[in-house]
This record gives sequence, C-alpha cells and structure tokens, in this order.
Amino acid sequence: MPLMLHEHRILPPCATIGIMGGGQLGRMMAMAAASLGYHVHIFTPEEDCPAAEVARYVTVAPYEDLAAVEAFAHSVDVMTLEFENIPYKAAQAAQAVKPFYPSPDIVACAQHRGREKQCATDAGVETPNYQIADSYEGLLRAVEHVGTPCIIKTTTMGYDGKGQYRVQDASQCTDAWRALGMREVIIEAFVPFVAEASVMVARGQDGTMHTFPVTRNEHEGGILRTSYVPSGLSATTQTALEHAACAMAQRAELVGLLAFEFFILADGSICFNEMAPRPHNSTHWTMDACNISQFEQLMRICAGLPLKKPTLRATCRMVNLIGDDMNELAKWHHDPHAHVHVYGKAECREGRKMGHVNIVGDAL
Ligand code: AMP
Repeated sequence: MPLMLHEHRILPPCATIGIMGGGQLGRMMAMAAASLGYHVHIFTPEEDCPAAEVARYVTVAPYEDLAAVEAFAHSVDVMTLEFENIPYKAAQAAQAVKPFYPSPDIVACAQHRGREKQCATDAGVETPNYQIADSYEGLLRAVEHVGTPCIIKTTTMGYDGKGQYRVQDASQCTDAWRALGMREVIIEAFVPFVAEASVMVARGQDGTMHTFPVTRNEHEGGILRTSYVPSGLSATTQTALEHAACAMAQRAELVGLLAFEFFILADGSICFNEMAPRPHNSTHWTMDACNISQFEQLMRICAGLPLKKPTLRATCRMVNLIGDDMNELAKWHHDPHAHVHVYGKAECREGRKMGHVNIVGDAL
C-alpha cells in the first residue's frame, strides 16, 4: 500500500535518532525507538543519566560545546530533544547539519514565558493578564497594573513550580524580586481555576496532526502529582482545548510534539498557561492506556513513519513517584492494575521525579 509520505524521509531500521538531553523523557523515547528498530544517540552534559542506560551511543558534553553538538549531528539521521532549555545556538548548530524536530524557533518560543503567551494571543487563545519586567521599579509598576493576588515567575528556566513567587500584596515585591534572582520576570494575574488540563499535539513531517485525549492534572507545590483520563471535563471544554492547542501548533508549523497546559475556569472557559516542545509528564498515561504512547508517536514523527490517531483504551490515573514516594514501590508492584515505570535515578531527593505509575481501569 503506498504511504502518504515523502518516501525519502522514512528512516530504515538501524538508523539513528539523536536526542538532546538525558533525563527520563529521553530514556522512555529511547525505549520506544528501540521497539521500532532504531538506534538512539543521547547528547547530555551529565554522566550516568537515566537515558544513557538504554541508549546505543552517548555523548557527554556541555550544550555550549558547539563542536561536540555538530559532531553529534553528523553521527545521527535526525534529532529531537527531551530537555527544552538547550541553548538556541546549540539547536541551530544541530539543525544546520541534520533535521531537528521541533524547530529551534519553536523551542526558543517555549523557553520564554512571554514569547509563548504571545504565541497564544496570536492564535486567538486567552492567557492570564500579564506584564514583563526586568527591573525592580518595573516589577512594582507591573504588579500595580496586573493587580493582586498575582504570581511572579522568571521568564526563563522555570519548571516544576521553581522560579515562582506568589504575591498577595505589593509589599511582597522586594522579597519576590530577591528570591527570583533579580532578573527578567513575568507578572501573571492569579487565575481562579477550577481545574488544570493539558493537550498533547503531534504533527508529522507531512503535516498530519493528531491530539492525544485531554488530560486533567492535579499539582502539589507546583509539581504535577496526578493526571486523569478521561478528563471528566465537558465536551465543549475539551473541544475548545483541542482547537486552541491545534491552532497554536499549526501556526508554529510544528513537526514533533508540543504539550499545552491550560487553566479551566468555573464557566468552562479556558486560559493558556504554558507549552513544552517535547513529551510531557501529564501524557505518560499513554504508555499503558492508549493505542500509542507519546514516545512512540515522537519517534514515528522523527523517522517519517505514519502517525497513529491516538485512542483511549481504558480509563487511567497516572501518579508521579516523587522523592520518598519510592518507599511505596512495593505497594504498587502488588497492584495488578498498576504499571510501574522507574527512571533509574541513583539519588532520591525531595521533589525529584523518580518514576510514575499508570493505574489502568481505575475508578475515577
Ligand atoms: P507553571 O510552572 O507555570 O505551570 O506553574 C505551576 C503551577 O502553579 C500551575 O500548574 C498552577 O497550579 C500554578 N499556577 C501557575 N500560574 C498560575 C496562575 N497565573 N494562576 C493560578 N495558578 C497558577
């Protein structure tokens, strides 16, 4: 049967997919690549990272070492990333040698909270009211403009609730400015959401676009704790989420995965929070409760294989194993509905994501 693809872009088995970043996302991508018959080459600044254990080739070098990045690019057939904060110059240097998905421009957009909100606005998607400031005086003006309560976040490098400061009134600005390192910040109005949700968009080299079913997420202390599918949100809200995410992915001419996080308000309306140009923690349930995992979908995109239209196979609750949660591993191993995924991190620290469990067929 003829494939609806450019034949020359389909990688044969034993081709090599390069992944920038060596964390758990890279590890799960490498495992999916191996199932499809591809080799993986990990580029990581860290020795003994979770992905290195399951990859055929590993380069250990800083992302700033552009000669190492170029050598890595020459050694692979196509590249993607699992760590979104790689320097723009590294992504560009890689892309000059071999295809790099998603494009460095999309990666740069997702690295900056102001740029990604602009991307949402351009696509007609609501965001919280916000201002950007790069001085203390600017911060004071911005807080007055946005109003309190508000959340002050570093514009770059924030993750898992890090680089954020919640402000109830303007008197906390001095502490916030110091705590966040006296650098460029974004001041966001506090959104009185009733739920948080995410949508993963996958778009192939030929423009085929699919979304994974909408996921509802619960965070604790800024870190994702639990995800649920089906989301339990109304059909109207789910459709609005899918349309917003697809509109943004389409405008960006995405090839790869782009994860979108949204707030849901009491009236069912949606408000964009942030996006990530890679597999996402909230979509880990696809490993056990979907006809295709997010990791396999990304490897298929990189290889030029046809995408699968994701379909939910069972209800699922995904629980992150964070820090001491690892003490409960035995309990999960005894649960016949639990699929346990452990990331092989030697050191267990507070707030560190060590693994996750997909409880399939769970009563929601
Ligand atoms: P983020 O790193 O931006 O995803 O923020 C982490 C978590 O903090 C989110 O998942 C929300 O639970 C909460 N949060 C972030 N921004 C806002 C906001 N503007 N209003 C209310 N809660 C927020």
